[in-house]
Amino acid sequence: MSEHGFTTKIVHADHSLNLEAGAVHAPIHNSVPYGFKDVQGLIDVFQGQPGHAYARSSTPTLDALCKKIQMMDRGVATAVFSSGMSAIVATFLTLLKEGDHLICSRFLFGNTTSLLNTITGYGIEITLVDATDVNEVIKAKQDNTKMVFVETIANPVTQVSALSEIGDFCEAENLVYVIDNTITSSYLFDARTVKASLITTSLSKYVAGHGNAMGGSVTDTGIYSWDDYPNIYADYRKGDSNLWGISQIKKKGLRDMGACLSSQGAHLISVGSETMELRMDRQCENAMMLAEYLQAHPKVEKVYYPGLADHPQHERAKELFTGFGALLSFDLVDGLDCCELLNKLNLVISATHLGDNRTLALPVAPTIYFELGKALRQEMGISENMIRCSIGIENGADLIADFEQALA
Ligand SMILES: *Cc1c(COP(=O)(O)O)cnc(C)c1O
Repeated sequence: MSEHGFTTKIVHADHSLNLEAGAVHAPIHNSVPYGFKDVQGLIDVFQGQPGHAYARSSTPTLDALCKKIQMMDRGVATAVFSSGMSAIVATFLTLLKEGDHLICSRFLFGNTTSLLNTITGYGIEITLVDATDVNEVIKAKQDNTKMVFVETIANPVTQVSALSEIGDFCEAENLVYVIDNTITSSYLFDARTVKASLITTSLSKYVAGHGNAMGGSVTDTGIYSWDDYPNIYADYRKGDSNLWGISQIKKKGLRDMGACLSSQGAHLISVGSETMELRMDRQCENAMMLAEYLQAHPKVEKVYYPGLADHPQHERAKELFTGFGALLSFDLVDGLDCCELLNKLNLVISATHLGDNRTLALPVAPTIYFELGKALRQEMGISENMIRCSIGIENGADLIADFEQALA
């Protein structure tokens, strides 16, 4: 079905599995253990044959979601987790060891930045760089560097990483290149085109879309060869070496660490993913309209949105992505209080989260970047008066009208 479009593939993925009674959705399997008539079947699953033994490692429902995400990411294998954070934790903790060096974008999702502090305590060395400039990554490289981790469009200032140039550098230096594709999703950005080794995605955001399910995924694109990667345990150096990395992430990150997704959660994410293209097209359109409206408003100091021609990485975003996303931030002019504005909005909900069908907004400094402190916020380009919006699928005119009455 590779010739079919993005949404065609997703909506027909489950039915094409030849499910019981012609079902078009994969069933929700609630069984924790899986029993065998002949115990050899159980032994085979324990020794690596396909099949299920225990729901912490896999269920048929989770397998169906893995196949769908793998297809969306165009990868060779996918593992799903209970949240985006657990997917990132599994990637770092199973592929890095004490004494390894990790290069990360300085502009990361706040909880990922916090996680970096945790793993520094385990003896993993980290250098934070301005990933909009590949030279910063090149300068940070050390003999013990194993991995580079970046996001596509950063939250909340919307910097766009030098994704393509960093991919070339990682290839030349044989580094594992991990891209968190949450903000763009596989619909707006095909991370294979910039040679990503692994793609992590918070499924809780645009993939699920409705703000009713949490999940995360890691997809191996098959581009990185794990043959020479020193941190693959002997147990997982078997069979196709393209799959060694993801096998280790599944066994150690899922089976051992236990951050498994529920089958109910997987079903909600799977249903949500069917409309991702339709939702994101509308969200990108609404975000662009609102960005232009806010930029022209006298009470708005600055708008951060990669779709605007004066955004520092506008050209790069245009080249790499099929849309500019639905994350938009703005600063009010001096003297105006961002909390007062948020309280005046009727439609827009004051809430954290991204990728919801509803438009959500929050004041950045006292919420998601509160723990960071003022000095670090300034270093990251986050003003004290910044509002971050996750644009939803409402009718665009209603959103403009809501901001208009609130700013009046
Ligand atoms: C939300 C988010 C995460 C974490 O995902 P959860 O599903 O909330 O755990 C990771 N990275 C980015 C870029 C995110 O926006």
